Amino acid sequence: MLRKTRLFTPGPTPLLPAAQVAMASAGMHHRTAEFRALFTRTLADLKEFIGTSNDVLILASSGTGAMEASVTNLTSSGDQVLVLTAGKFGERWCDLAQTFGCQLDMVSVPYGQTFSAAEVRQKLTPGVRAVYVQATESSTGVRHDVEAIAKMVRAQAPQALLVVDAITGLGTTRLDVDGWGIDVIIGGSQKALMIPPGLAYLAVSERAWHRMESVRSPRYYFDLRKERKAAAKGESAFTPATALIAALGAALDYLRQGGEGSLPAGRDSLIAGAELCAEMTRAAVGALGLRLFAPAAPASALTAVVPPAGLDSGKIVAGLREKFGAVVANGQGEMKGKLFRVAHIGYYDYLDTIGIIGALEHVLAANGLPVELGVGLRAAQEVYAAASDAVQPAAARA
Ligand SMILES: *Cc1c(COP(=O)(O)O)cnc(C)c1O
Repeated sequence: MLRKTRLFTPGPTPLLPAAQVAMASAGMHHRTAEFRALFTRTLADLKEFIGTSNDVLILASSGTGAMEASVTNLTSSGDQVLVLTAGKFGERWCDLAQTFGCQLDMVSVPYGQTFSAAEVRQKLTPGVRAVYVQATESSTGVRHDVEAIAKMVRAQAPQALLVVDAITGLGTTRLDVDGWGIDVIIGGSQKALMIPPGLAYLAVSERAWHRMESVRSPRYYFDLRKERKAAAKGESAFTPATALIAALGAALDYLRQGGEGSLPAGRDSLIAGAELCAEMTRAAVGALGLRLFAPAAPASALTAVVPPAGLDSGKIVAGLREKFGAVVANGQGEMKGKLFRVAHIGYYDYLDTIGIIGALEHVLAANGLPVELGVGLRAAQEVYAAASDAVQPAAARA
């Protein structure tokens, strides 16, 4: 039988066909009226997608470039920062803060868990200049309660800037950026926006802009003030990734169509879709007798699953790829072999979700597990049937 390659990884994610076409035909020069029109419109659309009135910037880098910019632009060497870490991406915040000489304090919880309010509150002292956290920790599949964290930061440490890595949170999770007082929120192109890797984007609050004036860390390519100035004229400070920006414009158009002309409505239906795919997957996993890696607060961005006792998760990852062309992610670092991750970020629908669950049943059975074929699928079908009155397919409405 044919075997189509399909990505179920938490970045890169499957590509939107309309975005691929836009990318392939984008041959414009960047200092032209044509590009300025595209860039200005795309920045405005991105602002609606994020749901903020703050300035939005696009950088030619992977998501980590915007993470680094959020350290170098907002802290000076010696500044006290608080990192909330629960996995590999939280650890990246720690590395960045230390690389640029910050005095690092942490709330660190075991992989698969999230923070308790009491632990965070205790660390929010008057000396903290910035707080760094993920919305969803893609290495463990956990969702952090950004709303509760933001409220604590604003109440307990009003001097601190709150920076949220929402690279897998945006487009999968409801986030009220301005209402909760998030100073910097970061996204990446290869996640919910359905285009290839290569762009990072971020929304920056007035308080954060103000902080930048007094910060002494060296920065050049990722000097956000330069980008803000250029963006106001419809340009970027350096050569932009024109083809990716054309793709991004097409992806945002697609979301607006899905929302019957409203980009926020299109984004909300994208989020609702991710939530439903995740709920179907969790139901199937449970029915198949497997455990979630982050059961207390599972994200809708991805589902991290613990393999059956005695079976390395790499066997499941390899089985899905070799037999079905389905690419899921193994655990990262010391979690390798101990979990596998199925993403629901971006361009996924009902059939993708049913397909990966069906394939998983076969792979488990092939590894000697007493799986009754259809048990996981039935659980997922029931979730879908219960929800399908509420969630209409975007294409049917467009
Ligand atoms: C994908 C991802 C990143 C960004 O990684 P890059 O490889 O630099 O794009 C950062 N944080 C989270 C939570 C992610 O999922």
